[in-house]
Amino acid sequence: MLIIEKDIKSKIDQLWNKRPLIISGPCSAETEEQVMQTAQRLAATGKVDMLRAGIWKPRTKPGMFEGVGAKGLPWLKKAKQLTGLPVTVEVATAKQVEDALAFDVDVLWIGARTTVNPFSVQEVADALRGADVPVLIKNPVNPDMELWIGAVERVARAGVKQIGLIHRGFTSYGNTEYRNAPMWHLAIDMKLRHPGLPFINDPSHICGRRDILLDTMQKAIDLDYDGLIVESHIDPDNAWSDAKQQVTPERLAEMLDLIIWRKEDINSEEYHAALEKLRQQINHLDDELMQILGQRMRVAEQIGDYKRQNNITILQTSRWNEIIERAFQKGDKLGLSKEFITKYFDAVHMESINHQKKIMDS
Ligand code: PEP
Ligand code: MN
Repeated sequence: MLIIEKDIKSKIDQLWNKRPLIISGPCSAETEEQVMQTAQRLAATGKVDMLRAGIWKPRTKPGMFEGVGAKGLPWLKKAKQLTGLPVTVEVATAKQVEDALAFDVDVLWIGARTTVNPFSVQEVADALRGADVPVLIKNPVNPDMELWIGAVERVARAGVKQIGLIHRGFTSYGNTEYRNAPMWHLAIDMKLRHPGLPFINDPSHICGRRDILLDTMQKAIDLDYDGLIVESHIDPDNAWSDAKQQVTPERLAEMLDLIIWRKEDINSEEYHAALEKLRQQINHLDDELMQILGQRMRVAEQIGDYKRQNNITILQTSRWNEIIERAFQKGDKLGLSKEFITKYFDAVHMESINHQKKIMDS
């Protein structure tokens, strides 16, 4: 099959609205043979929409494999022509944008280590001016939503019309289950703020290992992500970068078959009626919770009044520890996690302190 660039452009426009959008390919392009074989085996699954491959690899430490560089671009072009799969590559500098566009890379992505740096994002954005190419923007390595939003704005201001988001998790100190903590709540917040932008999950860089990939992919689908970008390799264990998290094209296809594809909404009337009833219940319960929280604040204010008269500090650590211990015990029986209890009580406590402070200052 020989692909004409004009056809690919209209294919990209279709893919932009395809759900789920599945992108896969090696962490890094290593050799022409590896790129060709991966692309062909991915295309043979019939389940992949776009080929990814890192050409320039930002590595934390020098001396690691930093990508084959521009010499890998013709391999990608050839892989596209053979399989019909559009290709996407990470770019971090103006020169890389220029080189990638010269070889008709169809979609560019900005990596997590670039999103974190406004100078680099601006350089890439400036290089994109006037180019009609979609750009996917990964979250920054640190959980700073403003940097991610800032990168979207910089790229949008450069005139890029098709922008998508990739959630690849956040660096966290200490050993955790994940290579990069997903912090789903932050990602969902970003998704809600940009409802028009395709929102893609990168389970490979979140997990850092293949045994928990499928669970993470399922979670993303359950959270109504628009697509997945998953690293695949013809010989994962011997990949030149990110070996532990890559899977073969065939294993990827198997995992995609195992996923339960849930829809955001269905049209059946019964389903809507049942859901509506449950939603009403939730509304009633939320109203009650608010009433009770209001009452709790009134009691806190009375305590504040008492503390003011007796010249006692607002914050009393021992009392706070007692409250939270009690809540952990009760919460455990009710199936509420310690993480939730801590967050909830921190918020309630802060609000109480603010109410008491007003009374103390009055
Ligand atoms: C990658 O996709 O291979 C990559 C380097 O990702 P990230 O920017 O998420 O670390
Ligand atoms: Mn990688």
